[in-house]
Amino acid sequence: SPKEEDGEAAKKQTRLGLEAKKEENLPDWYSQVITKGELIEYYDVSGCYILRPGAFSVWEFIQQYLDKEIKKLGVKNCYFPIFVSRHVLEKEKTHIADFAPEVAWVTKSGDSDLAEPIAIRPTSETVMYPAYAKWLQSYRDLPIKLNQWNNVVRWEFKHPQPFLRTREFLWQEGHTAYATFEEANTEVFQVLDLYSKVYTDLLAVPVVKGKKTEKEKFAGGDFTTTVEAFISASGRAIQGATSHHLGQNFSKMFDIVFDDPETGEKRFVYQNSWGMTTRTIGVMIMVHADNQGLVLPPRVAAIQVVIVPCGVNVKLTEDDRQNLTSTCKQLEALLNENNIRTEGDYRDNYSPGWKFNHWELKGIPVRIELGPKDMKQNQLVAVRRDTGEKITIRKDKAVENITSLLDNIQASMLEKAKKDLDSHLVTCKKWNELTDNLEKSNIILAPFCGQESCEDKIKADSARDDASVEPGAPAMGAKSLCIPFEQPKEGITSNDKCIHPDCKNKPKFYTLFGRSY
Ligand code: AMP
Repeated sequence: SPKEEDGEAAKKQTRLGLEAKKEENLPDWYSQVITKGELIEYYDVSGCYILRPGAFSVWEFIQQYLDKEIKKLGVKNCYFPIFVSRHVLEKEKTHIADFAPEVAWVTKSGDSDLAEPIAIRPTSETVMYPAYAKWLQSYRDLPIKLNQWNNVVRWEFKHPQPFLRTREFLWQEGHTAYATFEEANTEVFQVLDLYSKVYTDLLAVPVVKGKKTEKEKFAGGDFTTTVEAFISASGRAIQGATSHHLGQNFSKMFDIVFDDPETGEKRFVYQNSWGMTTRTIGVMIMVHADNQGLVLPPRVAAIQVVIVPCGVNVKLTEDDRQNLTSTCKQLEALLNENNIRTEGDYRDNYSPGWKFNHWELKGIPVRIELGPKDMKQNQLVAVRRDTGEKITIRKDKAVENITSLLDNIQASMLEKAKKDLDSHLVTCKKWNELTDNLEKSNIILAPFCGQESCEDKIKADSARDDASVEPGAPAMGAKSLCIPFEQPKEGITSNDKCIHPDCKNKPKFYTLFGRSY
């Protein structure tokens, strides 16, 4: 059609569109999606990126949702300093041993050395818990349920990638303290469910909920629960968010105690910590974006509908033109009044085709095309970003039809991503099946003994030792992603063996393995 040809020409002229293909060159494609889609600007400190409004608005939707939900659980927001002194940071030894290589230190002010170097928080357990110890006077002060929306710094040496692995990232970190294990244990799973909902209900990304193995759990904690997402374009899984039960490890280190109301004995609190970061945005992009650019799930789209007046370059009288613009503006107002976030693109220095490409790159879920012919017929054309499908809608039904169209897009994006995950998740009982499936970019559910040493072997022995692998192609071995809460129906049987051929231990559960970010 003339509109599409116009679009193709515009794309080439301005290099507006993506030049790399998702299936051919994922790193270049990702970089083009986020820069041309105006989500990220690169920055001259490695591992740090500028979050432009297009990205930050997605974060704001996540914040609004999570903030409301955690407040329903009785959690209050607060703010602790970004700095932590060395002796406090190093109080919990296992915890800090894991974080130490990534801690950034401030050693100078101006030209003079600080008397004591000061760390920048990589997470705030050690920052917050001395205050918890002070505040806790009696069992009546429990539970303590605090959250911070803040930034943390982890000077990672793994390859940084915008959103997915950055040296500074935004997150929320919740830190709670309870008198009993049961209360803390309940909360760990409530929060994990919220994280799971952020992925499925807001970002339309399916996740696998489970527990981390001993090897992969949070340093200094008792157990870690996680939501794992899958990026089929790379065949790699990614840890979506984590909710940790810290047990009494930190309360013992930081002396967070209360007197038992019955016995009068000193008791240590049970604690949790849980966090979700701006990584979520990267996962959403990797899962949904295509060769035309970003594809935003409607629930996190700051603009859900863009109206593009069409037919303006054919001969129109000035009256017709004004009539068209005012019809578009009326529609824009009507949709906004009905809670459909809508914007009209009335710029007269760009053709409709150019605008189509522009808004496609930005992932706007629905484009409405309205021209003089549509006006005569009291209709409009809606185009879905996710499928490209064109739908003609009667003007007087615009609000209800577009509302349900947006719901439909949200649901079908999740459905599509679910199918994708399901088709890449295979159950294996033999070692060669595991390695074969890893090569096929799948993730693998396999019987496993749970031992750390065995897990190390699985990772080492499933890595490709082939030095000729193309640059960027993952030759890495399989990591354990989680022990899914939902185990295969047949369960572990007496005939089952641990997936590693050398392992003599009995398998305990099915564990999800895969290459991972
Ligand atoms: P942690 O405090 O280590 O459990 O981390 C909480 C969550 O942060 C993890 O589950 C990841 O999803 C996410 N995360 C960890 N490292 C990074 C990073 N460098 N950039 C962005 N997100 C991260």
